[in-house]
Amino acid sequence: MIKISNYINGELTPPANGQYIDLFDPSVGQPYAKVPDADAADVELAVAAGLKAFPAWAATSINERSRILNRIADLIEESLEELAKAESVDNGKPVTLARAVDIPRSAANFRFFAQAITQFATQAHEMTDAINYTLRQPLGVVGTISPWNLPLYLFTWKIAPALAAGNAVIAKPSEVTPMTAYLLSEICIKAGLPKGVLNIIHGDGIKVGAEITKHPKIKAISFTGSTRVGQEIAKVAAPMFKKMSLEMGGKNPNLIFADCNYDKMLETTIRSSFANQGQICLCGSRLYIESSIYEKFKKDFVERVKALKVGPPADPATNIGALVSKPHYEKVLSYIELAKSEGGTILAGGEAVFPEGHEKGWYVSPTIIEGLPPNCRTNQEEIFGPVVTIMPFDTDEEVLAYANGTNYGLACTVWTENITRANRIAKTIESGIVWVNTWMLRDLRTPFGGVKSSGVGREGGFEALRFFTEAKNVCIQF
Ligand code: NAD
Repeated sequence: MIKISNYINGELTPPANGQYIDLFDPSVGQPYAKVPDADAADVELAVAAGLKAFPAWAATSINERSRILNRIADLIEESLEELAKAESVDNGKPVTLARAVDIPRSAANFRFFAQAITQFATQAHEMTDAINYTLRQPLGVVGTISPWNLPLYLFTWKIAPALAAGNAVIAKPSEVTPMTAYLLSEICIKAGLPKGVLNIIHGDGIKVGAEITKHPKIKAISFTGSTRVGQEIAKVAAPMFKKMSLEMGGKNPNLIFADCNYDKMLETTIRSSFANQGQICLCGSRLYIESSIYEKFKKDFVERVKALKVGPPADPATNIGALVSKPHYEKVLSYIELAKSEGGTILAGGEAVFPEGHEKGWYVSPTIIEGLPPNCRTNQEEIFGPVVTIMPFDTDEEVLAYANGTNYGLACTVWTENITRANRIAKTIESGIVWVNTWMLRDLRTPFGGVKSSGVGREGGFEALRFFTEAKNVCIQF
């Protein structure tokens, strides 16, 4: 069985305590590798390596940092097939998706920040007898903590800007999907990233994540994951006055108006509901459809969703792979039961699936539920699986009230050809990201993040470089 290692001070290192946890292949529900069950001792070694490496890395020229990040991007691209397969086995996502989205985007994250740092600039403020200029300096050793749904994609989305800005990083991937982060450590060695600049510690949330959060020498925490864990992190990091970026859960609404481009909307709504088994923080899970097209949409959507193929992630014909873990699979199924008990009608799916030869894997059919009120638990709580609800509405005001009526505010999708309406909704909706007539169209320069219980702070573009640097004003009187 494959045994993966931590990456500390430039070397692949076993956990100090010698302990490992099982890593599962969700497509068959069986362990296939061992991941370090690291703890405070490994975090301590990583922080020491980071502190040692930081001054030289911060003093390394921007061009050189940029060159190394581009080299990492090259090597990710060269290993596309190996990484895509590893991501698919680890996470249960269709290999076609990992090949088309996860791995190319991971390379793009490094390439984007390799370029962005060469364009990052500060301001000067002139007075009659003095000049102020702002320095943007790296923070030192920073911590990143990421989830299992887009493992390498989100892991690198944090590491790349932190490294570009000149920080040393202690990074913790999800213990549920650590394989590609491990493969990235091999790539970093090959790319010539100096020792200790990036340290990757594998293990669970409490023994590794919480240790990173509370470590006094770690100056900032960039976290993506659930709102519950985000709260735990804030409780510890806020009184220590650490910088924090928290990207958390969502319950995203789709607002579908009768005047939309219907075919494009239908095609995209299938993706925005069920891509990656619905396990993308940006997936729309509450679908509000204008009454005049509700019945037509319901018929077409149900028909198309029933045709999606649930199956092994390695099969190129698979649309819906396995859910990531047994607890998550059980959680999703329990929400389907909850929806029924709340009076919902299952129009499609609603059950576990057992593909031939993969009967022990964790598969759930794409599920459409109708007949639920906006304020029930099914419509308020994040399920994070292949489950959506559909509901009719009559007016803009009504649908806005529904859309804004949860504690979350990450992303929303609006389908209308009426530009005035689109602008009005975009201004009024409580959401960090608004897509009009599209979904998950990403420009890495744009601010990314949520409001309310979905997030604090923004990632992406210069926002990320600002997060990973501290502004210092220098005032010189003539
Ligand atoms: P999670 O919160 O359970 O875990 C995320 C990470 O935090 C993991 O690495 C975990 O080990 C670690 N962790 C757990 N407890 C910790 C603690 N006490 N202190 C520090 N770290 C701890 O989330 P998950 O189940 O891995 O991912 C799914 C969640 O992530 C969903 O809620 C989803 O909406 C969210 N998500 C949000 C975004 C976004 O950009 N807003 C993107 C992807 C996923």
